Amino acid sequence: MLVLLERGVSEAVAADVATRLRMYGLAVHRTDHEGQVRLGAVGEGAVDWAAVAVWPGVASVATLPAPFKLASRAFQPHDTVISVGRCAVGSPQLAIMAGPCSVEGERQVFTIAAAVARAGATVMRGGAYKPRTSPYSFQGLGEEGLKLLRRAADAHGLAVVSEVMDTQQVGLVARYADILQVGARNMQNYSLLKEVGHAEKPVLLKRGLAATIEEWLMSAEHILSHGNAQVILCERGIRTFETYTRNTLDLNAIPVVKELSHLPVIVDPSHGTGIRDKVAPMARAAIAAGADGLIIEVHHDPDHALSDGAQSLYPEQFDELVGQIRTIASVLGRRV
Ligand code: PEP
Ligand code: MN
Repeated sequence: MLVLLERGVSEAVAADVATRLRMYGLAVHRTDHEGQVRLGAVGEGAVDWAAVAVWPGVASVATLPAPFKLASRAFQPHDTVISVGRCAVGSPQLAIMAGPCSVEGERQVFTIAAAVARAGATVMRGGAYKPRTSPYSFQGLGEEGLKLLRRAADAHGLAVVSEVMDTQQVGLVARYADILQVGARNMQNYSLLKEVGHAEKPVLLKRGLAATIEEWLMSAEHILSHGNAQVILCERGIRTFETYTRNTLDLNAIPVVKELSHLPVIVDPSHGTGIRDKVAPMARAAIAAGADGLIIEVHHDPDHALSDGAQSLYPEQFDELVGQIRTIASVLGRRV
């Protein structure tokens, strides 16, 4: 339920209403919108809502109709903005995240960090724990990779996003990364969603390979319901009957999610297409469609990359793309 408090209500009264709702067994989440406190009361407790509507300080009570409650615009009408390093994801400033698929070594991450920072990225990506289809493929450098990524990013004033694959890695990855990436294959790993829900770092939640938009938002809801309000959604393509591209990048999802949810949405055209020369057109389209940013794989020597070389941009291609994104952004009243 959505409990709207009277405008100008004191913090003491707001806290009191929240406490009373909690005593019914509900979890209470707060957002402030245009000077009004909005409480999202979620859970199973049986409550006499007509009585709540006349509690001191309460202006009105309404249902939150969507199955995802805290992620919905009905709960929070304004956009969520998540500050990470020099970027504010969900603001008019587009979030440009870039880097290799996997952290492979010191020279590699430092070379790529310099290139993506120069081009205008503010966040560096790189996996240290890799979900690979084959158990014989490179699985990532683990903590050593996180250390390298952090050092390379720090040397160039970049924030870090890196994937966490299971609950036991959350604390470790959170020590080095500014954003915890939950990969497509883990979108419905509810134990992991719970664990990152307790972390004090923003979460980049990738859409599952076969997940509907509603399932994706329900996964975001898991994270929000555990107390972490900093969720960035990432469209990365879905599995369809099409085989020419690795996945089908669902740009419909951007305006759809923007209407349903206040959470920022970024797009990953690298995994979305799987083909280097298809990345830039789809990145441009994503920004034109209203995405809040991009996450792009970049590698200085993609022929020798240990993962996803075929979809990685050369640094010069990334630089040119960011220039084009700047132009598109300005038409939309946004900037890089
Ligand atoms: C990745 O970012 O390298 C990755 C494995 O992405 P996804 O989970 O979207 O496949
Ligand atoms: Mn990859």
